[in-house]
Amino acid sequence: TAAAPLASLSPADLAAFRAQKQADYDALCARGLALDLTRGKPSSAQLDLSDGLLSLPTSTTDRSGADVRNYGGLEGLAELREIFAELLWVEPEQVVCGGNSSLTMMHQTIVDLLLWGGPGSERPWKDEPALKFVCPVPGYDRHFSMLADFGIEMVTVPMNADGPDVEAVRALVADDPSVKGLWIVPTYANPSGAVCSREVATELMSMPTAAPDFRVFWDNAYAFHHLTEDEAKSADALAIASGCGHPDRPLLFASTSKMTFAGAGVAVMAMSAANKAWFLKHLAMASIGPDKINHLRHVEFFGDADGVRAHMRRHRDIIAPKFEAVDAALTTGLGGLGIAEWSKPTGGYFVNLDVLDGTATRIIQLAKQAGIALTPAGASFPHGDDPRDRNIRLAPTFPPLEQVETAMAGVATCVALAAAESLS
Ligand code: PMP
Repeated sequence: TAAAPLASLSPADLAAFRAQKQADYDALCARGLALDLTRGKPSSAQLDLSDGLLSLPTSTTDRSGADVRNYGGLEGLAELREIFAELLWVEPEQVVCGGNSSLTMMHQTIVDLLLWGGPGSERPWKDEPALKFVCPVPGYDRHFSMLADFGIEMVTVPMNADGPDVEAVRALVADDPSVKGLWIVPTYANPSGAVCSREVATELMSMPTAAPDFRVFWDNAYAFHHLTEDEAKSADALAIASGCGHPDRPLLFASTSKMTFAGAGVAVMAMSAANKAWFLKHLAMASIGPDKINHLRHVEFFGDADGVRAHMRRHRDIIAPKFEAVDAALTTGLGGLGIAEWSKPTGGYFVNLDVLDGTATRIIQLAKQAGIALTPAGASFPHGDDPRDRNIRLAPTFPPLEQVETAMAGVATCVALAAAESLS
């Protein structure tokens, strides 16, 4: 591998490099691969870890003696709420356990805010002259597509290694009452892997906002998804916010989608007493109660918060080698060339790859022709528009390790070829 930065090569050396990468690429295409690094899904080996769920629960009553097969219990099983309260550093009274999708709970929360407004609102959000959300980028594509679907304008700020750029957020929220919300993945962010520091969390919860009902959607989807023994502790957003006098600002979300079964887990919210009463009041119009059998199934399976932690270490053992394989392939193929930077996440589900400006679309097209499916360029930006066309989200959890190795070696070839083309 050439270690000299590509931009420093003479025209002749660059031409030779390009010819070599073209030959590598042609050989790659000739292999007829069919590999997929597009979505952050657990692999079947990870799903197997939770097969114990399939023969649970053994009981039909919860701790209070209520029959879980029947209606009722809108806020979810107390014993499951206790486990999540401990894990999320909140009080059990602040927790709601719902259905299988936290994304649905986020959607429902926004619908409720649009139709009725929430605690602190002057009017339903739909009656505001304009609605905007602050979106740290790169970020989670489904947050952005949901906002786009609601017609809510997205204003981007950079996502730094310690969370959203606080000064940029402050400037947006201070004077403009139409800025109603901010969406953040605070722990092992999708896709950058960044962990929001306590300092940044405190700024976000304390900063003055023109909107009296400004909300931080604190989507802690990867709170427990550590890849190393250096386990990040999420900032305790609810306690920080109430300490700052803004108890209703944060809405916490999490789920067991990447802990047990992605399609049949349990979603969780945690929030202030006022937010919870508001949320349950509207939820009561839509449901007589959640799937408490699934709640009890998860309680019996995990036992307690330590059971969750132990379970997550078993996930780590399966997926950490895949993240190491991504880093190894990129280092081997691209190290020293000065054409790419990538994250080395200590948790979560993604690797963030930044390439030369203007080459991400080309790389993804090259990879596709070689039989390697990558997430579309720009996916981590509102409306799919990465203004620098340089960001690529890699999701290595689903394919078997050998496929991750093969695919990533191929991706490195595509990155190098596209860079050589662009510099020629
Ligand atoms: N939030 C983030 C940041 C995610 O990455 C995902 C899954 N890709 C979700 C939420 C979806 O969660 P759920 O399955 O609970 O709807």
